Amino acid sequence: MLDSLAAKLSGVVADGARVLTAPAVLERLSHDFYWYSPVLRPLLAGKNGDVAVRPVSVDEVLAVLRFAGERGVPVTVRGAGTGNYGQCVPLEGGIVLDLSLMDKLEKITDDGVAVCQPGLRLGVLETEARKQGWELRMYPSTLVKASVGGFLAGGSGGIGSVAHGGLRDFDTVRAFEVVTMEEEPRVVLHEGAAVHEILHAWGTNGVLTRIWFALTPAVEWTQMMAAFDTYEQAFSFTESIAVDTAWTKRLATVFEWPIPSFFTPIKQLVRADKALALIMIATAQAAALHGAAEAAGGEVTFAGAFEGPRTQPLLSDYTWNHTTLWAMKADSAYTYLQCGFSAAECREQFRLLRERYGQEILFHIEFMKNGDGVVIPGAIPVVRFTTEERLNDMIAYCRSIGVFVANPHVNYLEDGGRFRADNIQLLAKQKYDPRGLLNPGKMVSFHKQEVRR
Ligand SMILES: Cc1cc2nc3c(=O)[nH]c(=O)nc-3n(C[C@H](O)[C@H](O)[C@H](O)COP(=O)(O)OP(=O)(O)OC[C@H]3O[C@@H](n4cnc5c(N)ncnc54)[C@H](O)[C@@H]3O)c2cc1C
Repeated sequence: MLDSLAAKLSGVVADGARVLTAPAVLERLSHDFYWYSPVLRPLLAGKNGDVAVRPVSVDEVLAVLRFAGERGVPVTVRGAGTGNYGQCVPLEGGIVLDLSLMDKLEKITDDGVAVCQPGLRLGVLETEARKQGWELRMYPSTLVKASVGGFLAGGSGGIGSVAHGGLRDFDTVRAFEVVTMEEEPRVVLHEGAAVHEILHAWGTNGVLTRIWFALTPAVEWTQMMAAFDTYEQAFSFTESIAVDTAWTKRLATVFEWPIPSFFTPIKQLVRADKALALIMIATAQAAALHGAAEAAGGEVTFAGAFEGPRTQPLLSDYTWNHTTLWAMKADSAYTYLQCGFSAAECREQFRLLRERYGQEILFHIEFMKNGDGVVIPGAIPVVRFTTEERLNDMIAYCRSIGVFVANPHVNYLEDGGRFRADNIQLLAKQKYDPRGLLNPGKMVSFHKQEVRR
């Protein structure tokens, strides 16, 4: 039965060699970094697609979706598979639609909008953009591997968000074309506010096949690291840089000790028992930042030019959700949360969390601009996992003291923290995927509809 599915699918794309059935390949293409979560680990292990296909054109995507729709076979889209919550794990088997070969950068327009296919890697786009005087507004710390389509469908923000907000904000995602899973699949252009129907919907309500992604003028950046005696000092210093519009920055991160002790490849830049601030600053302001850090009691342990994604050391490799990876390498009992502290109340929120959980929660702050233009202390705290109940207690307590949590220990959109209250993602699913074949199980408020003929 599965062999015949693969055999028939081979006739749908121009080259049958792009239909993959080897078990080891299917296993690899069916998983992402869901194992970051001790809760998701046992739930998602062993969930594999039955067959994978690598289309090279929108016509092939249309043909695969038509083929799957006719047979009632689920389709789960995959970019580079660097997601964190099992977003691209096919819960009900079926076809894995691997878009990695649709990776063309069509052009960068004169006003700085990249027009590209979804499989284009963000690192390649950053490198090409910089050659033309532009750069990404924001990118995840998985820059080198992650795809543009996967970032839009599964990510939220990252390096650059301190200046440009998240993916949802400030018209960064200008438009895209989406292939639908209707009875007769079609290509639909979404632009302006209509992008929010599909953005961060985990490929549950359409397949992005062409993207208009706004860039920003390139800046010469310096990566800087400074050690401080206390977390409070490191936090206050970094906050002062993050919120002050006079500083041109791309990254403003704080780690309390012992998080820096996990960064083994750059251990010479870390100081024992000290908190660390990590900032990407315009090179023109690097000397001034150096002086400001020292005046605030810090020791600058590193300053070096950012020369693109291949820079070594690439300090963003220790930020955003890479921090969690280093913590888990040091001790597999660590996991994480995704939080947003209140700009005004954060010190009290830190105090309350420390009082209740002690060193079970370690503060890792990523300053980011919200949609209202206010820079807030976002956070990806490192958490010592004991039981699911304890983790849920921490999440509930965070929410009770006004700390926003996007729960990374669930495998469905609604509790992930970025499901839209206006339900437009759900409405788009009802319209574009009424049979519930796209990444089934990930949008739990959706119920399959009878297709009207
Ligand atoms: C170490 C580490 C650090 C990370 N840091 C960050 C960070 O700083 N910021 C952040 O936002 N995320 C971060 N992530 C999560 C992830 O790396 C990013 O969101 C990344 O952009 C996902 O891209 P991808 O190509 O790997 O997507 P995938 O994992 O392949 O897919 C993500 C989701 O999008 C869907 N999808 C993929 N392509 C399409 C498409 N063309 N059309 C429709 N749906 C599609 C998939 O079905 C899946 O649901 C991190 C993850 C790790 C492991």
